[in-house]
Amino acid sequence: MTPKRESDVTVVGAGPVGLLLAAELALAGADVHVLERLTEPDQAMKAQSINVPTAEALDRRGLLPAGTSGPRFTGHFAGMVLDPDLVDWSDPDFAAHTAADRCRMFAQPRLEALLAEHVARLGVPVHRGVEFTALEDAGDGVRVDTSTGALRTGWLVGCDGGHSAVRRLAGIEFPGTAAELVGYQALVDIADDEKLADGWVWSAHGVYRYGPQPGRVVTLEFGSAGAQFARAGRAAPVTLDEVQASLRRTSGTDVTVTALRATPTRWTDNTRQAADYRSGRVLLAGDAAHVHPPFGGQGLNLGIGDAMNLGWKLGAVVAGRAFETLLDTYDAERRPVGAWVLDWTRAQTGLMRGDAKSAALRGVVGDLLGTPAGTTYAVKKISGVTQRVGPSGDHPLVGALVPDLWLRDGSRLVDHGHGGGFLLLDRTRDGVFTRLAAPWANDVTAVADDDRTPTGVLVRPDGVVAWASDTSDGAGLDDALRRWAGVR
Ligand SMILES: Cc1cc2nc3c(=O)[nH]c(=O)nc-3n(C[C@H](O)[C@H](O)[C@H](O)COP(=O)(O)OP(=O)(O)OC[C@H]3O[C@@H](n4cnc5c(N)ncnc54)[C@H](O)[C@@H]3O)c2cc1C
Repeated sequence: MTPKRESDVTVVGAGPVGLLLAAELALAGADVHVLERLTEPDQAMKAQSINVPTAEALDRRGLLPAGTSGPRFTGHFAGMVLDPDLVDWSDPDFAAHTAADRCRMFAQPRLEALLAEHVARLGVPVHRGVEFTALEDAGDGVRVDTSTGALRTGWLVGCDGGHSAVRRLAGIEFPGTAAELVGYQALVDIADDEKLADGWVWSAHGVYRYGPQPGRVVTLEFGSAGAQFARAGRAAPVTLDEVQASLRRTSGTDVTVTALRATPTRWTDNTRQAADYRSGRVLLAGDAAHVHPPFGGQGLNLGIGDAMNLGWKLGAVVAGRAFETLLDTYDAERRPVGAWVLDWTRAQTGLMRGDAKSAALRGVVGDLLGTPAGTTYAVKKISGVTQRVGPSGDHPLVGALVPDLWLRDGSRLVDHGHGGGFLLLDRTRDGVFTRLAAPWANDVTAVADDDRTPTGVLVRPDGVVAWASDTSDGAGLDDALRRWAGVR
């Protein structure tokens, strides 16, 4: 099937971000399609885990598979493993987000397959084997050239990864810091793995990690990143010899890799953020908007957050429910989260170098992370439970991701939001908030519950609390609805 010649929105890239964005746009009523140059989904080893906001985003749409609960996931900071037994799990930020917290081990190909099924159910066409090649923003729409012909679209969103052609052709700058390391991730068979130690091991040549899953190898080498990357060729497949050579250099052994069990990945710590997430009718999301090394597993999560934030906003603009100014809040809300992730990874690069000063710094930071307060701080950051993406307001919940809210009938508030749209929790005795929101009834699902606090919560389609109250007078609800759901 060739792409339609006219659409509301064209998404370039069927990675996890493009797929989720397309689904959110479809739920918001937009006519959307996806162009993907690969003929088959990419099976390369990338993300192995997701954070709490990503797990909650899947949960919000009813996509979190049952039976995926596991132990609480903590991760690492610069190779210093964070001990779950030191974490204060009673901290209110953790306690507010427990429902999806046990579903964090989620390999990226599995997530992409789940999202591909989701977009297929929503009827969104994903055109594989179609490469985006050029764009011309005419002000009232965009002309798009592809390897199978030209098309016209109202809006173009680049979800086409770190080397985004959409970003380049839209003329959006990509400032940041240059690479100083090359990393590999692979799943291998090793003839003589007794030569390797478990966990993260530093040497003058770099760092390697063997485990925790059998055969999983990560290596980092400092110093000649640019040259090594160029030699390997950015897009060239990673070979067994390349993984073995890096493992030998970083471990100082003659260990022998006998087989690759999955498609390995090669990356650098090139760390950059788009100067604008929007230029006219062209927008960016996911790695197209920001790149950084994969330390601590944040990139996919960052992109999922972009897609959730942009989907309903662009959908509302396309449908005429909101003014274009709503799109300004996309950059304003997502840029700080992206900038934080970039710095979180830069700090880890600084700590992981092989020199004596970095080793000394690792000792100090390692001592701090070995305390309950230090580990709790790092795990709160990594898990995303403290993330605030929206505006602040009179109530402390405003701007935060909605916490777990269980209702009298045994359901949770998120169970009512699988189809997208706003959710309004109304705990007033006579449905005051539901009456106030009546003009927005097409876009707001009101959910009645018994008389408790918070008495009311208005949740945006991306899970961000737009308004909350502990009283029954509804003060501020009308303003919040006008601001986020549009003037009625
Ligand atoms: C080794 C490694 C480990 C990682 N671990 C984690 C982790 O644990 N947690 C985490 O959150 N993140 C992790 N990441 C980061 C994560 O993989 C990325 O952030 C994520 O893939 C970004 O998704 P995306 O959809 O924005 O881009 P991509 O996944 O890069 O998808 C972009 C898509 O666009 C397509 N495309 C590109 N150009 C064109 C074009 N011109 N026309 C048509 N299609 C095009 C590509 O073929 C691709 O399918 C890791 C990354 C690596 C490399």
